[in-house]
Amino acid sequence: MSIRLEHLNYIYSPDTAYEKHALKDICLEIPGGEFVGVIGHTGSGKSTLIQHFNGLIKATDGKLFYNGENIYETGYNMKNLRNEVGLVFQYPEHQLFEIDVMSDVCFGPKNQGLSPEECKARALEALKLVGLKEKYYQASPFELSGGQKRRAAIAGVLAMRPKVLVLDEPTAGLDPKGRDDILEQVAYLHRQTGMTVILVSHSMEDIARYADRIIVMNHGEVMYNDKPKAVFAHYRELEQAGLAAPQVTYIMHDLRERGLSVNIDATTVSEAADEIVRALGMKTQGNTAAGGSRADGNAPGNQAQGSKTMENVK
Ligand code: ADP
Repeated sequence: MSIRLEHLNYIYSPDTAYEKHALKDICLEIPGGEFVGVIGHTGSGKSTLIQHFNGLIKATDGKLFYNGENIYETGYNMKNLRNEVGLVFQYPEHQLFEIDVMSDVCFGPKNQGLSPEECKARALEALKLVGLKEKYYQASPFELSGGQKRRAAIAGVLAMRPKVLVLDEPTAGLDPKGRDDILEQVAYLHRQTGMTVILVSHSMEDIARYADRIIVMNHGEVMYNDKPKAVFAHYRELEQAGLAAPQVTYIMHDLRERGLSVNIDATTVSEAADEIVRALGMKTQGNTAAGGSRADGNAPGNQAQGSKTMENVK
């Protein structure tokens, strides 16, 4: 599986007063099996971009290749593309409409022409993958909590067994626990099935934690397309684009400026914690000062202060 975009442009309402050049000369390649994060300020083109991946909207010009085939060629099998690239919209639970969860999850496979038995087997598999408890299978989608509804909606897409799962802000509006649960589940799916995951998110922390690669959109253009550490190294430029790096990036830079010899490319809390422990010359277990590796005398002081720093970071 691979997706390749060549000089892709998209213009909303061309030749009208509402014309909007939403995507500008996008060139990208997404190889199979990657976990790709897409970030950018509101209106930067993220949603427009991902709707191209399953052919939901057609580029004004440029090419999009799926597995090496140009999807805009006449005769291209769009139905197959839509089966292989599953798109989970923002607030997907708004599209739950069947009488119970099981029927809702069966909807996609039914549309694919599968038999009732196959639909049920696919639905059971998908519901298991998203971790929704069995007691909810016969419940009305409207009886579920926000997080459960979202799991059910994601299961509806997974039941079609996509090779690529595209999620547009899947955690929007959920509480922190619901947010972590959903993302952990998506990461589990990625590990378990090897499917490509393309995740649009506002949260730099989430993206830093899960993505192998980040695409940064800015005013309809790709600003960066690189590994998280390489992208977040541009944190000043990201700020200018209305974005921020993960909080730990700022903490690490701050510590470095204050004289602690930390490597500043940590992007997750646990990486930062390990790096600070290393720089302070402490043992990870037991918080005893091992001494020796601290850069200079200006580093945040003694053992007690070191522990405090760790707590604050955690
Ligand atoms: P994002 O997902 O990053 O918030 P979008 O892809 O939704 O960005 O929007 C990109 C640009 O296209 C924005 O300027 C937005 O106002 C415009 N846009 C989005 N949808 C439409 C539409 N249906 N008609 C006209 N303009 C649109």
